[in-house]
Amino acid sequence: MSADDPNLHLPNELRDKFQRNVPLCDLTTLRIGGPATLVCPVRTPEEAQRFQESMAQADLPAWILGGGSNVLAPDAGFPGLIMRVATDRRQVRGDTLVAGCGLDFDDLIVHALESGLTGLEFASGIPGTLGGALVGNAGCYGHEIGEFLVEALVLTATGRLERVGPEEFGFRYRATDLREAGHVLLEATLRLGRGDLDAAGRVRDDHLADRRAKHPVDLPCAGSWFRNLPPAEPGGRRRAAGELLEKAGAKAMSEGDAAVFAKHANIVVNRGAATGAQVDRLVRRMQTAVREQFGVDLVEEVRRMPGPGSA
Ligand SMILES: Cc1cc2nc3c(=O)[nH]c(=O)nc-3n(C[C@H](O)[C@H](O)[C@H](O)COP(=O)(O)OP(=O)(O)OC[C@H]3O[C@@H](n4cnc5c(N)ncnc54)[C@H](O)[C@@H]3O)c2cc1C
Repeated sequence: MSADDPNLHLPNELRDKFQRNVPLCDLTTLRIGGPATLVCPVRTPEEAQRFQESMAQADLPAWILGGGSNVLAPDAGFPGLIMRVATDRRQVRGDTLVAGCGLDFDDLIVHALESGLTGLEFASGIPGTLGGALVGNAGCYGHEIGEFLVEALVLTATGRLERVGPEEFGFRYRATDLREAGHVLLEATLRLGRGDLDAAGRVRDDHLADRRAKHPVDLPCAGSWFRNLPPAEPGGRRRAAGELLEKAGAKAMSEGDAAVFAKHANIVVNRGAATGAQVDRLVRRMQTAVREQFGVDLVEEVRRMPGPGSA
């Protein structure tokens, strides 16, 4: 069956929600990617479950998308079904925040602070959704989102709605067991604090200013391309991949409109009309330069959506 097939069974309640032939460049922050055959936003756990059933029956490539801020989409598009997690419930309960995983993560940080809850301000300015942040254990400035998770509602790869705690998540550096298992994150409960709101606001402002100074402000990108290196000794600090890339001369590299960002050697920017193929050539050159100079194999942090004909 193809995703264009009129026999593709989609539940009635989703019929007026999905869209066909959606350009992935509109759904990813790198602004690259051809059309996805079918994209369906899911706003409730039940909608997610229904759509996942359709995905399973269709036996077509499937992908879960949040804010698209950590994804490289194929130039030739995605010949399958994309579930866009758009669950958006939000509730403060004591010192905890219950939130839909489709919510914009940074908006949620603002909401937490406005509700008197502190803790998440370290992550101010990370683009994407709460779900994307949790499933990749997003982090910066010495903290990771996994530190705050109490429990989450997930749709397992086999179609069950389950509540899971941090131990099932298997949080580690920019990864979780849940992502590897293909589970969909729908809602999460985060334990926050009632700390000094003025201090938290200052942390937020400082981090946002730091990001504006170091990250591309007006050029599309997908954040850091490669993972930082494991610490040399247990408990030590990770070595920044950007440091090795800079020493290996990456800042001078470009392929067409895909270029290494001038202020940060681990960020690839789209200067206008970059293609996935150009990005691919560029990141291979970056990897090769670091391997030749330091004998280190950099591992990608950005997730690659498979294209037509991918295994
Ligand atoms: C300018 C910029 C700065 C950034 N800074 C940081 C940073 O400081 N720290 C950091 O860690 N990251 C950073 N990132 C990377 C990115 O923003 C984070 O990884 C973000 O949390 C990804 O969320 P998303 O919703 O965009 O996920 P997407 O890009 O849509 O998806 C990423 C992966 O998560 C999966 N996924 C998404 N939502 C769900 C869900 N609900 N359930 C199951 N799987 C899901 C997708 O299938 C995919 O494998 C930055 C990116 C940019 C562009």
